[in-house]
Amino acid sequence: MRTQVAIVGAGPAGLLLSHLLAADGIDSVIVESRSRAYVEARIRAGILESSTVQLLDSVGLGARLHREGDEHRGIYLQWPGERHHLDFVDLTGRSVWVYGQTEVTKDLGAARAADGQVIHYEAGETALHDLNTDHPYLTFRDADGAPRRLDADVVVGCDGSFGPSRAAVPPAERTVWQREYPYAWLGILADVAPSTDELIYAWHPDGFALHSMRSATVSRLYLQVPTGTDLADWSDDRIWAALAERLGDGVNGWSLTPGPITDKSVLPMRSFVQSPMRSSRLFLAGDAAHIVPPTGAKGLNLAVADVALLAPALVALLGKHDARLADAYSDTALRRVWRCTHFSWWMTTMLHTDDDPFTRQLQLSQLQWVARSDAGATGLAENYAGLPLGF
Ligand SMILES: Cc1cc2nc3c(=O)[nH]c(=O)nc-3n(C[C@H](O)[C@H](O)[C@H](O)COP(=O)(O)OP(=O)(O)OC[C@H]3O[C@@H](n4cnc5c(N)ncnc54)[C@H](O)[C@@H]3O)c2cc1C
Repeated sequence: MRTQVAIVGAGPAGLLLSHLLAADGIDSVIVESRSRAYVEARIRAGILESSTVQLLDSVGLGARLHREGDEHRGIYLQWPGERHHLDFVDLTGRSVWVYGQTEVTKDLGAARAADGQVIHYEAGETALHDLNTDHPYLTFRDADGAPRRLDADVVVGCDGSFGPSRAAVPPAERTVWQREYPYAWLGILADVAPSTDELIYAWHPDGFALHSMRSATVSRLYLQVPTGTDLADWSDDRIWAALAERLGDGVNGWSLTPGPITDKSVLPMRSFVQSPMRSSRLFLAGDAAHIVPPTGAKGLNLAVADVALLAPALVALLGKHDARLADAYSDTALRRVWRCTHFSWWMTTMLHTDDDPFTRQLQLSQLQWVARSDAGATGLAENYAGLPLGF
């Protein structure tokens, strides 16, 4: 098989890249290790920045988002006894949307299928070859176990944290920065109407908690837990009791309504950046190049932002033999990656508690400044609602 752009991974980055390339007449083929149903059911992120929404709108992918998603003006930031609303629209003129990654992926999957996109789902043994030549290619086993070879002009690694692409950059060329955090998130999905109109980010001596949502009838909530936490130790009752305590059930007349838990998982927290995001004929986008802890709601948005830069770069490179955008891709993308890496680290370290009393006082001081000063609030709002794509 031959294509212009061989894409590894059919997550949001890979699917959106193929969509943007097709709109400009560039052919691509995607190789994905999981089934389409698995990819579309994977519970992950759920907050879209305004620039992500604008991009999806501009390429005909926003109809269901606007019909079924929820626009949010801001978030609540709280610590025991106090809850403050930060209004992003007043502060920065930009809102965010609650729309699950599952839904973004389904919309992308449907659009690509309607367009006849070739996607090899359930591929095995994906390997990248000859990336430093003009004739790179992928090999893999297709869903029937047959060996396949896909020749391309360029290969794009959109294969997330666990795929082979990032390791295909020669060790001498790559630099990795990473930080492991000493806590994880226990996340639940529950069939219950959210107890709040906007997300609640709660600092608490027992640990951070987040009340988020997916729709008018489905809530998504998270608890800070130690790394290595075993889900078996957390009964549904224990989870709801901890959420009620940390989110302030009973304080100022607010209450948390529990409901049936339909999904439970523990999510490790880590920051990771690999630079550069290009090596010869290989480009990296999304989680393949960087991972942020989910506190800033940036992972999915960063994947979209990478692809929004990469698609026009590949169109210019392959359609017009103009390499300028492709040559600038890594540096341009990394500027935003590092901004989001810092913001995600800042939110994480401001909100997650440990046993150190000095750190707690600093965190509370920082939270008070963010909640009470326009400058502090605007800084959080600008980063959370998202800087413009070209930032
Ligand atoms: C477990 C998990 C939970 C998360 N939860 C949250 C959350 O609650 N809130 C939040 O804001 N963000 C969350 N995130 C972050 C966010 O979902 C990601 O940043 C986003 O999915 C990045 O999109 P992507 O397309 O770059 O990568 P992915 O969505 O990871 O897509 C990569 C694709 O590549 C495929 N792939 C992997 N290996 C191969 C291979 N060898 N061959 C072919 N295909 C391959 C994978 O199956 C996958 O479909 C979570 C991430 C993870 C991993």
